[in-house]
Amino acid sequence: MTSHREPFDSVLDTVGQTPLVRVQASPDEVSVYAKLETFNPGASVKDRIGKYMLERMVEEGDVPPGGTVIEPTAGNTGIGFAIAAEQLGLDAIFVVPERFSVEKQQLMQALGAEIINTPTEKGMDGAIERAHQLADELDDAVVPQQFANPLNAEAHYETTGPEIYEALDGEVGAIVAGCGTAGTLMGIARYAREQNPDTHVAAVEPDGSMYGTLFGDDREEDEYKMEGIGTHDPTTNELFDPELVDEVIDVTDRSAQDELKRLARDEGHLVASSAGAASVAAQRVAADIRDGEIETPYDSVVTVFPDSSERYLSKGIYRSFEEWDG
Ligand code: PMP
Repeated sequence: MTSHREPFDSVLDTVGQTPLVRVQASPDEVSVYAKLETFNPGASVKDRIGKYMLERMVEEGDVPPGGTVIEPTAGNTGIGFAIAAEQLGLDAIFVVPERFSVEKQQLMQALGAEIINTPTEKGMDGAIERAHQLADELDDAVVPQQFANPLNAEAHYETTGPEIYEALDGEVGAIVAGCGTAGTLMGIARYAREQNPDTHVAAVEPDGSMYGTLFGDDREEDEYKMEGIGTHDPTTNELFDPELVDEVIDVTDRSAQDELKRLARDEGHLVASSAGAASVAAQRVAADIRDGEIETPYDSVVTVFPDSSERYLSKGIYRSFEEWDG
């Protein structure tokens, strides 16, 4: 196992083995632990799928040597894929809806990728459609399609899940994570339920997102400022398996921003809005365990802090709620 104490040949070897740190605002009786995915080389959780998916696709011959990877992405996946593509001798093109952060787009370009923007109002569906059109025009191109490809969740089943269980000697009561593609939560949840079928699993989405409708929860569709989690159309998020989820917790933009500011000020975490939302939801689950409202095999909750606030400084993530441009 990688200890990060020996020299490596490639930055790809440094993906994963991120630290797990106790959230100090946790209830005394039930600790919340956060997996700090900013420690990856591209500074987000998506480096894991970049490495895992592209290595598997090259091994299985799904992408030809020197071929092109085209992916619809909010940005972090592009960064993770761009790092892996370059190391594996592939070209990369990313289709990004306009509203997503310019920092991410500059980083993808710096890593050698080409960016194509699609209109904000067409959402992720518009980017997915454009990626497939482009792939049809090139003969060596493949669309890994993180929203539908089981390798996305498998990356977390093979890496993130086992790392969490090893760090806590298997004593995990609940898993709480934000869902964009839902790959992170599905991979960890599948691993967790294999370790103990009674592990509580909570998905986190922004207020205004529609995952909750899969459980018959009341949801009013609306725009949200958070980046990286949520969906307006859960049929696009093919990996999300309601069987692996006990509840969907929705968090407002305002409480996610309050919490990401608190995490910086009080606990030294430079994390972004999806981490703020995950932290709020994980503390809520911890309080429910403490109060006996949720039964779990252990008194602990694990969540994931997916990326860094530095990626959103231009959007005013640390300014007032009104000045934060989501
Ligand atoms: N937070 C951020 C900042 C992200 O970029 C993503 C990926 N879309 C997520 C959370 C959610 O990860 P997943 O796609 O695995 O659900």
